[in-house]
Amino acid sequence: MIIQYPDFTTAEKVVHAFSTREGGRSRPPFSALNMAFHVGDDPELVRANRKLFFANLGLDLAKSTWASQVHGDRVAVVTEATAGAGALDPSTALPGTDAMVSDTPGVSLCVMTADCLPILIFDERLRAIGAVHAGWRGTLFKLPVKTLKVMSEVFGTDPADCRVALGPGIGPCCFQVGQEVLERFAQEMPAEYSRFVVKKQTREYIDLYRANSLNLQGIGVPAKNILVSSACTSCNSDRFFSYRAEQGKTGRMVAVIGLLE
Ligand SMILES: [Zn+2]
Repeated sequence: MIIQYPDFTTAEKVVHAFSTREGGRSRPPFSALNMAFHVGDDPELVRANRKLFFANLGLDLAKSTWASQVHGDRVAVVTEATAGAGALDPSTALPGTDAMVSDTPGVSLCVMTADCLPILIFDERLRAIGAVHAGWRGTLFKLPVKTLKVMSEVFGTDPADCRVALGPGIGPCCFQVGQEVLERFAQEMPAEYSRFVVKKQTREYIDLYRANSLNLQGIGVPAKNILVSSACTSCNSDRFFSYRAEQGKTGRMVAVIGLLE
């Protein structure tokens, strides 16, 4: 049910986790631990799943903050005033938002995924946090970099002090993309392109972990502070929700990072 990186948050009073699909109450195709209201699951079961997961983590679900994700590049600064948005009622989720940052004790930030890469950021020096939804568009827009820039502006974050965890998402083994997507990456990331595009016979695959990792290192996050999952969601759809492996009819996992009071 829970994946945590032992080396990510060694500080006290910071909690992070990535959920798997195991251990919840939802029925197929959302079985079992579906965290998303917007996929067509019974809202009561989604609430029950979220309560169960947060209780296991020792985080207050009522102060967990959720967004209506749109594959865009908006970063929201979460304060006491917006803490808890979307936690139990999807109509209160932060609109049109794919990344959140906060330094407010008690607040947690939640990103939902099924193949897209969830990315969690922890500024060890200032105890500030960030959570990012990075599919290919978020990767192309360099949303993790933009999120760190917002953390720098608002909290004074230095990327050199940050640890970043790239959670389970679709791997380069499965993330085949078409010419149009490749051309956009060639345009946006020409210097790095050959390092994250994998060619097998006539097909081309993108390594989202590598692309985001290179972008993060480019703004000063030390390579040793970037933790990368080795699991591919699409190869392991028994353990993870996979939009691609399940042709779009599936649930969502959550990646969460929170500051305890
Ligand atoms: Zn795979």
